[in-house]
Amino acid sequence: MQTWEQFIANPNARLGVLGIADDENSSYQRGAAEAPPLIRAAFHSDSSNLWSENGTNLGADGLFADAGDIQPSPGRDTAVEIEAAITRLLDHGLRPLSLGGDHAVTFPIVKAMAARYPRLSILHFDAHPDLYDDFNGNRRSHACPFARIMEAGLAARLVQIGIRTMNGHQRQQADKFGVEMIEMRYWRDDLAFEFDTPLYLSFDMDCLDPAYAPGISHWEPGGFSTRQALGVIQGLRAPIVGADIVEFNPRVEARLTAMTAAKLFKEIAAKMLETSQPTPVTEGKIR
Ligand code: MN
Ligand code: MN
Repeated sequence: MQTWEQFIANPNARLGVLGIADDENSSYQRGAAEAPPLIRAAFHSDSSNLWSENGTNLGADGLFADAGDIQPSPGRDTAVEIEAAITRLLDHGLRPLSLGGDHAVTFPIVKAMAARYPRLSILHFDAHPDLYDDFNGNRRSHACPFARIMEAGLAARLVQIGIRTMNGHQRQQADKFGVEMIEMRYWRDDLAFEFDTPLYLSFDMDCLDPAYAPGISHWEPGGFSTRQALGVIQGLRAPIVGADIVEFNPRVEARLTAMTAAKLFKEIAAKMLETSQPTPVTEGKIR
């Protein structure tokens, strides 16, 4: 793990990577806390290379500043630490990309993002809307982060895709908060997403069909193929100012899902670089 001092010593970095080893608010199965080192290892695995599909060399020197992993510790509030870590990345001019944890981590991340970007849009990939007012008595549950975000007024727009687990309560919540939801049953591959405000991307691995990413806590068949999700990311026309990849649970499956998370990391990172200044590091593409 890098220290903050090592990380600050990298002045050319554009993206700040933060591992979040926190699954305290998972309602059904723990394990998402174990994801960060496995996603990092899959990203660096010799089985592939470090180039994104659009020709960005993510192995180029100094592109990333890695702030290490946040671990819950007794007597400390992990949510406060996550918010502070994201704020520090933003203070150094970095676009945060968080890896791991359950989806509860997105509320403190978005708190920090919204303080910097008052008109933030969120594109949320998930099988679940995560809009419960509370879940099993826990308002911090991973089933609740988007209710917390919307009631705090942290997002100008919330667009949810991949959703296929709606119930009455969450439909009321979606109406109340003005969520723009495209349920999976209405999905078409030619849908285009445009945002005219800074965009935060929150990627719950269970938006994918469990056939493509079985290492998750809540299998919900009927989801995106990996290719469909990549198509949405690659087709975005918006400045992506931050992103997370959450809910990879290595206790359920650790190999295919780690590679899928690393692939998403690569393509999201490349898209973030494409939409940030200066021009991304690219070299000759295959002709
Ligand atoms: Mn979720
Ligand atoms: Mn989910």
